[in-house]
This record gives sequence, structure tokens and C-alpha cells, in this order.
Amino acid sequence: MPHSALERLPTLHETLQIHKLRADKSLGQHFLLDLNLTRSIARLAKPLDGVNVIEIGPGPGGLTRALILEGAERVLAVEMDDRFLPPLKHIALVTDRLDIHHGDGLKVDFADALPAPRKIVANLPYNVGTKMLINWMTIRPRFWEQMVLMFQLEVAARICAQPGDNAYGRLAVLCQSVGDCRIAMEVPARLFTPPPKVDSAVVVIDPLDEPFEDLKSLGELTHACFGQRRKMMRASLKGYAKRKNIDLAAWLAAADVDPQARPETIPVETFQRLVSLVPRETKSSSST
Ligand code: SAM
Repeated sequence: MPHSALERLPTLHETLQIHKLRADKSLGQHFLLDLNLTRSIARLAKPLDGVNVIEIGPGPGGLTRALILEGAERVLAVEMDDRFLPPLKHIALVTDRLDIHHGDGLKVDFADALPAPRKIVANLPYNVGTKMLINWMTIRPRFWEQMVLMFQLEVAARICAQPGDNAYGRLAVLCQSVGDCRIAMEVPARLFTPPPKVDSAVVVIDPLDEPFEDLKSLGELTHACFGQRRKMMRASLKGYAKRKNIDLAAWLAAADVDPQARPETIPVETFQRLVSLVPRETKSSSST
């Protein structure tokens, strides 16, 4: 049986004990120690045959083991906390499909680090999860075929929200302009060691065939719209239009936007249309 050596490794609980490892909250450490659970997360990324997986924050390696057991061609595991290098090296002793990188997942050039096709599968550190997501979505050319990422449930809901939902806002507009986003699994807090204060969820993101390219301008526009919730479009975009030297009423009319509508009811494509109608030379005149 090809994976028997992986399956004979100490359990993840034993691994923590053997290496005297305790979670460091400053690094957002909440571990998944049940291999059945990590395997069901890894299966969300199937098919994995011939696919190179980028895993950020492998920790003791529960998801790492699962990804290899579920058939990933290679796993590049990027871990910032050097205390986890010994247990990860232990896994690498019994499989030739794991590469370990000690460092910050935000700083790795993945297109350079491993060949396509690539998927990103990770139980992300909560404190930097959305920053990483937006960063990966912005990089061109796109280097990933799919993302399967664990977030706090509330963040997962914001990524996947539809117009009219309470959670709908800037994150939904940005993410859904690049990918098809769905919550594939909810994971209660008690299944983590130590349990975080809130439940989590795994979000699966498949790239759109035609993503919206100008995320920087979309970020700037949605910042203006959702910075002041419950205001009407006309009011939230007043300052933005002034900065850009745009005739607000004419611009909203051209994009077919009701000036009295609330931003939280406006579809993703309408925000994109508004960006497309900003005169080109002023589109990115200030930062997001
Ligand atoms: N994947 C493991 C699991 O499911 O048990 C651990 C998940 S834990 C939520 C997040 C992991 O990300 C920790 O191991 C932490 O050390 C690591 N980490 C935090 N910030 C990081 C960063 N910027 N780059 C890489 N790893 C990071």
C-alpha cells in the first residue's frame, strides 16, 4: 500500500506531545488533529492527481498528510513558526512529495516556487487570512487553479455573500470578481485544538473564465461605498466622484444605478460597470 508509511506516523496528538508543541495565539494557531476531518477538507480540492498544492501554515501537518494521502502530486508547505519544522521533516522522511519552506506565506512567489497546475489549500492563520486571499487574487497572471481555504465562519460568509445579505460588502465584491466562491464545509470551533472563540468554514474558490482585472480601482470604489453603510449610493460616492472629477449623477445614470439604492443591494457586476465608466486617467489616482 503506497501510503502505509504516512499512515504509520505518530498521530497528530502524539506529534504535539513528542515535539512539546503548544499553540501560539499570536500566530493564529488552532490545529486540526483529526485526520478524517483533514482528509475531508483535502477531498474538497479533488481532483489532486498531477496537482501541486501550496499549503500555508501546515503547523503539525494534519492537512499536509491528508493532501498527500488524497493524491497531491507535491505539497509545498510554508510555515513561519520554526518549532513545526521537525514534525514536518518527519513527514518528509516517509514521502518524497513534500517540500517544506520556512518563512512568511505572504512573501513567497509561488509561480516561481513550483510548476502549474497549482491549488492553494490551507487552514489559514486568521490574523492574515484575508490579506493573503486578496493578495493571491490580485497577482497576474493568475497562478492558482483553485483555492480551498479555511476562514472564520463570519469571514467565509462575507466572501460568499450575495447582494441583500447582511454580510455583503467589499470582500464579496472583490472575491466574486475573480472567482466563483462557495462555503463547502462548516467546521465547529470544538474540532480545533485549542478551540477558537468562533466557528470556521472552508471556502472553495474556482477562478472565473473572465475575471475583472482592475481590482485596485474596484477596491477603491467599494471602500468608498461600504465605508459608510446604510448610506445611499449618491451620498457614499459623493467624495469619490469629487476626487475623480466625475459628474456623479451622470456617472450613476450611465451605469444604470439608482442614486437612492444602498450599496449592500448593488450586484457585483454593477460595481465593475461603475469602475469601467470612470475615465481611465483618473481610475487609480489614489490608493485602495
Ligand atoms: N494547518 C494546521 C492545522 O490545520 O492544524 C495549522 C493551522 S493554524 C490555524 C495556522 C498556521 O499558520 C500555524 O501553524 C502558524 O504558525 C502558521 N502561520 C501564521 N502566520 C503565517 C505566515 N505569515 N506564513 C506562514 N505560516 C503562518
